Amino acid sequence: MVNFDEQTNCLNCGTKLTTRFCGECGQEKARRITFKELFKTAQRAILEFESPFLKTFITMTTSPGRVCRDYIEGKRASYFNPIKYAFWSLTFFIFFTALTGQSVSELTVSAFISSTSPETQHFGEVLSKIIEGSMLFLTFIYAAIFALLLRVFFRKEGIKFTEFYVLAILPSAHLTWFSSILVATSLLDAKTIGYTSLCLSIVFPIYTYTTFFNKNKIKVFFKSCAVMLLGLLIVGYLGALHTYIHIGYEDAVKQHKLEQAESEKQVETNKL
Ligand SMILES: [Zn+2]
Repeated sequence: MVNFDEQTNCLNCGTKLTTRFCGECGQEKARRITFKELFKTAQRAILEFESPFLKTFITMTTSPGRVCRDYIEGKRASYFNPIKYAFWSLTFFIFFTALTGQSVSELTVSAFISSTSPETQHFGEVLSKIIEGSMLFLTFIYAAIFALLLRVFFRKEGIKFTEFYVLAILPSAHLTWFSSILVATSLLDAKTIGYTSLCLSIVFPIYTYTTFFNKNKIKVFFKSCAVMLLGLLIVGYLGALHTYIHIGYEDAVKQHKLEQAESEKQVETNKL
């Protein structure tokens, strides 16, 4: 067994220890796992998740621009990892919609599905299938489109595309948490949640971008609105294109099956 009392080197990475914490990997001088240690580990597990998470969740609600700015400018340890924040928000959202028997599609494309025209209805159904099938992937793509637009509109700020990605993903992830809570509490019906989320997904990012920059607020506000408008146009265009390609493919498959059935019939009648 390792002698824990006479530690001269870090037990994690082997670097010489001069203080209680390893200067290379950051591990605290290890102790044998006793009851006390186990309890402390459990306590830390909760605290290390909860504290940055709660701080991120609360500050994202009150001043989202500040969270993004802090994170990009290197103040990171006290916040939750933004990609993790987005990942968990979606996981919870999908979990709660399934748990309460609601469909994600109902929340996102309710406007199409409730249409009277069967073609629009079918469009909505196919679109919702696409969204449901690859929600995680689409969220990260969605953020990339907005990051790119932010980079173009605020190119003089000296902020990289990858840094803008944080500014794009955080408000969208935060809204997904918010929608999850709405779904979980079941206070509103699916349609109302869908419309509330839609409105917030336009207003909240604009608010986040506007408070992110410490500059002429009016100019920043109008630029943020332009980013949102263009972003929605691009997303809408890509979404429609994807859906039409899918519908076209469905129709082609149907047509092919029909032709096949017909030619089989032809063969049979020829035999007779
Ligand atoms: Zn170490």
